[in-house]
Order: sequence, then structure tokens, then C-alpha cells
Amino acid sequence: MISADQDDHRPGDIAARLAEVQGRISSAARQAGRAEGEVRLIAVSKGKPEEAIRAAYAAGQRDFGENYAQELAEKAARLSDLPGIVWHAIGQLQRNKAKVVAQVADVVHAVDRVELVTELDRRAAAGGRVLRVLVEVNVGGEATKGGCTPEGVEAVLGAAQRCAHLRSVGLMAIAPYLEDPAAVRPYFAALRALRDRHGGAEVLPELSMGMSHDFEGAIAEGATWVRVGTAIFGSRSQGAQ
Ligand SMILES: *Cc1c(COP(=O)(O)O)cnc(C)c1O
Repeated sequence: MISADQDDHRPGDIAARLAEVQGRISSAARQAGRAEGEVRLIAVSKGKPEEAIRAAYAAGQRDFGENYAQELAEKAARLSDLPGIVWHAIGQLQRNKAKVVAQVADVVHAVDRVELVTELDRRAAAGGRVLRVLVEVNVGGEATKGGCTPEGVEAVLGAAQRCAHLRSVGLMAIAPYLEDPAAVRPYFAALRALRDRHGGAEVLPELSMGMSHDFEGAIAEGATWVRVGTAIFGSRSQGAQ
């Protein structure tokens, strides 16, 4: 395990862990017979300081994921000097946070109900922006997690596809936490099957699935975006889970 001390934020350490994760992504893609460029890394920086993000950026990382609207907005403002940085809002989203997210996020991963679709579109329109969105599916049927049911995808996705200021690009899932990462793969396969049922990769090119402990299995099942925090930035203090 990586410990959560300040050393985790030393630029050299972050660059080294980033390279290690990129290497694991490449070999997982290769093993799955996929092109390496098909899988992109979102560095999940929630709870981590600005300098950790700057260190990852200096090492070439451009996509960053944040869970909390306010934290995302503050970091996006403070890091606005970094060209080409892409902000992914990956956390569960309350309707009253749609405004701030629509102002700063480039991609919103956890869109799971029609009222949220409507609000994001309205707020994106007001800001003259177009947001890429993914429909989150609760593939494990877990009460503690967000995401619509597999049967609910059609309504949420259909609503998003009718919005002028949203571009629906894919599906997202958080698999149940299981000790054995191989046991998680059926959940990733289920998300891919859902994507195939809703138009396939042509309509929904992105599958956002896989985290620090299970991203290799997600890549084997077709992930195009993996969301990795701990393996890059070290563990998070309590309250920033
Ligand atoms: C925190 C978080 C991640 C990253 O988790 P790690 O285990 O630190 O890699 C990925 N996706 C979501 C939705 C998260 O909330």
C-alpha cells in the first residue's frame, strides 16, 4: 500500500507513479488486443492539492477527475494557466450543483436521471457551453451508489441526446468493490453490453470504467477511460473518499 504522507506529492513520485500506471494501461490494452491509444487515463485528484495536479500536468497528464463541484470549480480557476487541461466531473451530482459544474467541467460522468440532464443542458446553454456527458449505470444494483438502472438508460440517454448543449458520448460505471479484481469483470462486461444495446461504439464511443484496484479488468472489457486516483496520488485522508 502507498502511505498517505506528504511525500506522495513530490513531483518526482507523481511522475513515476503516473508512468507506472500508463505502463500498466498499455500492457492491459495490448493483452486485450486493443490499440494503446484507445484507453485514456483520467487522473482523479479529489482531495489532493493544486501542486499534485501541477506535477502530473508537468509529466504530461491532461485529463483530471474531481468529485465535488466546489472543489472542481476552485481548482479549475486556480489552474486556468495550464493549457489543454480537461476537467472531468466524476462524482454524484446534486441538481443544485449543476450550475457550477456546467461552468467548469468539460465532461460530466455521473448523469443518471432526466431532471439532471435537463438542468445541465439549461446551465450549459446559459454559459454558452457544450458538455460531453456519460450516463452512469448502477451495474451492481448497490443502494449506496448513484447511477440509473440498466432499464433506465434509455430514458436518460434519450433525454441527453435531445439536448442542444449536451453531447452524450458514453456510459460510466463504478463496479462493486471486490477483493479479487477478476471477479469484477462481469460488471464491466455488463456495461459494455448495455452500450451495445444502445447503439454501440458508434453512438457511444466512451466507456468510463475501472479505478486503481480494477482498471486492468475494465480495459480487458473495453474501457476507453479509466479513472485512477490512489495509484497516482497516494491514498486519500478520511473525508475525501
Ligand atoms: C475516487 C474515485 C475514483 C478513483 O478511485 P481510486 O480508487 O483512488 O483510483 C474513480 N471514480 C470515481 C467515481 C471516484 O469517486
